Amino acid sequence: MSTHTYPACCEKDNGSALGTNATLSSPISADGTPVIGEVYTVPARCGRAVRLKKGQVIRIINTPGSQVCDTWLFNSADLSEFSSMEHTRAFIDKIIPQPGDALVTNQRRVIGTLLTDTSPGVHDTLIAACDLYRYSNMGITEYHDSCADNMRLALNAIGLRAREVPQPLNLWMNTPVNPDYTISWLPTVSKAGDYVEIRAELECIVVMSACPQDIVPINGCNPQDVHFSVSE
Ligand SMILES: [Zn+2]
Repeated sequence: MSTHTYPACCEKDNGSALGTNATLSSPISADGTPVIGEVYTVPARCGRAVRLKKGQVIRIINTPGSQVCDTWLFNSADLSEFSSMEHTRAFIDKIIPQPGDALVTNQRRVIGTLLTDTSPGVHDTLIAACDLYRYSNMGITEYHDSCADNMRLALNAIGLRAREVPQPLNLWMNTPVNPDYTISWLPTVSKAGDYVEIRAELECIVVMSACPQDIVPINGCNPQDVHFSVSE
């Protein structure tokens, strides 16, 4: 168990970052609106938020092949509605979405459709975003970048705030459930340049975090950049 104390938050929710990094000062634009066709970077260990109109498609690219990208879709009109993996699993009768499958919200509305996946299709929908508590439990005694804070900071960077950190769609994270129901933590099986494409079925904010996990080898212990672009 962690014996750390953490900064007291003024809000009685889970929406405040527990530290900061470059995510906060480097949004793609003031309100997250993208230039169509431009390729943006999610720098290693950081997060980015991008605003999608209904029907637009985001391509998220695993540039090194070895990187996990935690991904969320928030209803831009109401950030308390978001892509929910537990609701998605029930909706699609699968634990990993495949091309053609919907991503649904905690209100069981379709917020996105996974259109394309050039990778072998190994992703995770079971594991919480890494957060400062996770790193503290692993013995880290100073601030460590985390996907939870990257999500909070990426939203803050475009003037938004969510009250919680939903369980993300962990793109390319290879944490299979074994026949005895244990979970393994393994490197990705994707190759450099693999990408997924997700079509927005609601106006939404997509948040991505290039996972900074450098202790458990899900990123080969070497977090790297991923990239994304938006098309109409
Ligand atoms: Zn992470």
